[in-house]
Amino acid sequence: MLLEIKDLTLEYGRIEALHGISLEVEEGEIVALIGANGAGKTTTMRAISGLRPVAKGSIVFDGQDITKLRADKRVILGIGQSPEGRGVFPGMTVLENLEIGAYTRRDKAGIAEDLERCFSLFPRLLERRKQAGGTLSGGEQQMLAVGRAMMTRPKLLLLDEPSMGLAPMLIQQIFEIISEINSQGTTVLVVEQNAQQALSRAHRAYVLETGKIVKSGTGQELLHDPAVKDAYLGVA
Ligand code: ATP
Repeated sequence: MLLEIKDLTLEYGRIEALHGISLEVEEGEIVALIGANGAGKTTTMRAISGLRPVAKGSIVFDGQDITKLRADKRVILGIGQSPEGRGVFPGMTVLENLEIGAYTRRDKAGIAEDLERCFSLFPRLLERRKQAGGTLSGGEQQMLAVGRAMMTRPKLLLLDEPSMGLAPMLIQQIFEIISEINSQGTTVLVVEQNAQQALSRAHRAYVLETGKIVKSGTGQELLHDPAVKDAYLGVA
């Protein structure tokens, strides 16, 4: 198991946002976490990347207990994150934003290789490599955020709402790229409100409701589950 979360509880002040969630990601999988606004999806990502301390429970990554490990150490271990809201550095060029992603690495040849891979996944970023990050369109910034996370050469790529704010055609495209990244060997945990796309791409998925996992199964099972259809897919 690449990632194993057990009975995780997380609090914001006195408010408990996650009430003992457990989930697993196996090496090679795309796992989706779906749920409504405020269900706790971003909070789960923050707990995994170490941006928020947990109150109870454990997180084991690649055989190591990382529950109390600092966020930057988790990046070095192989957890790469593309955060919600993108977090692109607006004053830096596309190329600089990508290079920042590799700041923990010293393997120059590997970095150059990953940069090339990133540009082949996102030709648009190659075209715009000298442009300031802040002047990219929403979709381009989303690509840049995913590309930057890839530059850490992660074992596990955490994607928080990669389709947010994107036009339908671009949503399709970003999910195709996610599948491509996965087929090249990166394990992916993706948080999404676009349940249709996420479930069709994911090997397995979890449904989060008000801080609890209420359902899990293969992407296809959940895609055809009447309750999931009703609540998240906009069809009864
Ligand atoms: P969305 O799809 O709207 O982004 P989400 O499932 O990612 O939602 P979270 O952002 O994880 O939801 O939020 C879970 C709950 O925790 C919400 O009720 C939210 O208001 C609360 N919350 C999140 N961040 C904080 C914070 N910094 N302080 C206090 N409460 C917070």
